[in-house]
Amino acid sequence: MLTSIEKCKLKFVLDSHVRRGKGRIYEFNPHSFMGELIHKVLENYYKEFYNFNEFDTKWDEALLEFCKKFKIEKEYAQYWVPNYYPKKINTLKTIKNFTLLGGNKVFPEEKVRFKNVRGIIDLFEVDENNVRITDFKTGIIINILDGKNIGVKETYIEQLKTYGYIINKKKEIKADNIELVIKGLGNNELFSFMYSQEEYNIQGLKIDHILNEINEVLNTGNLNNLASPESSICNFCSHKFQCDALHDSIRNQPNKWDRIILLKTINVTFDSDKFAINILVNDRTKSIHNIPEEDFLEIKKMNENNQEVLISHLLQVDSSIIKRWSKLSIYKGI
Ligand code: SF4
Repeated sequence: MLTSIEKCKLKFVLDSHVRRGKGRIYEFNPHSFMGELIHKVLENYYKEFYNFNEFDTKWDEALLEFCKKFKIEKEYAQYWVPNYYPKKINTLKTIKNFTLLGGNKVFPEEKVRFKNVRGIIDLFEVDENNVRITDFKTGIIINILDGKNIGVKETYIEQLKTYGYIINKKKEIKADNIELVIKGLGNNELFSFMYSQEEYNIQGLKIDHILNEINEVLNTGNLNNLASPESSICNFCSHKFQCDALHDSIRNQPNKWDRIILLKTINVTFDSDKFAINILVNDRTKSIHNIPEEDFLEIKKMNENNQEVLISHLLQVDSSIIKRWSKLSIYKGI
C-alpha cells in the first residue's frame, strides 16, 4: 500500500508490470514466508469455518502448498522460519478468540483497487450498513520506546486508512460505517479505529499526489529516479538483478550492504581450496565462505569472463567482513 509504495516507487511500478502478465517470481524469504502461510491458513478458515480439531491438518495442507510454491522442504521451513511453532499456536488462538462482526457476510482476502493502488483485505465483513476491515499482523503491532508503548505502527494505520478510503469511495459506504481493525496475533492485541469523511478525502488526495509524482518521473523516461535502494527491501526484491540503481548503490557504498555483494572483476580472488571468495573493498578484505563447489566454479568462470556478479541472501557471521553462503543464496551476472 502507500507506505510500501513510498519505500521504493520503482519496485511498485515494476511489480505492477509483473502483475499485468509476466507472472510473479517467488523467492523464499524466511521472515515473510510465515506471514504468508498464516494468512493462507486464516483465509481457509474464514472460507470454510472448519472444526478446530481439523486445524493441524489444514495447517499442514497450507504449509505443503507453500513449500511447493517456494521450492523448499517442509522441514526447512519448520526449523528455519523464526518462531514457527509459537506462531502456529497463536494462529489457532486467533481463530478461536476473534469475535466476528455478526453478519453472515464474511469475505477473507478481499481484493481492493483504486487506480494503480492495490491491496488485499485479510477479512472484510458486512453487517447491514456496517463494514469491518481487519488486517492480521503476525508480528508486534506497536512501537516501543524506552520500554513504553508509543502507539500502533504508523505504516499499519496508513495501510488500513487506504483500505478504508477505497471501500468508502468504491462501495459508497459512509465513513461512519467503516470500522478498521488491526489484529496482532502475537500478543493478542487489537486496535480498532475509524476516520471521518474529511480524513478519507485527504487520503484520496495523498494517493493522487503520489501517483502523479510517479507518472511525472515515468514521463521523463528515467526510471532510476524512482528507486530507493535499501538493504531491508532490495535483498528480497525480485527486480534486483535488473535494477541499475541498486547496482550503482552497491558499487558506490559497498559497506552499506550486508547481504548483497556485487563482485567486480578487478578486486576479487578465488580460494579454490576453501571454496571461498575474497573481495577487496575500501582496503579491507571481505570473504564469502561455504560456497558449494558447483556455484563457486560457476561464479569464478563468470568473473574470468569479465562479468560482474550480484550475489544476494548471504548470511553475515562473526564480523562484518565474513559472509556465509546460505541455502537461499542466489547469484546472476549483470
Ligand atoms: S532492487 Fe531495490 S531499488 Fe531496485 S526496485 Fe527493488 S527495492 Fe527498488
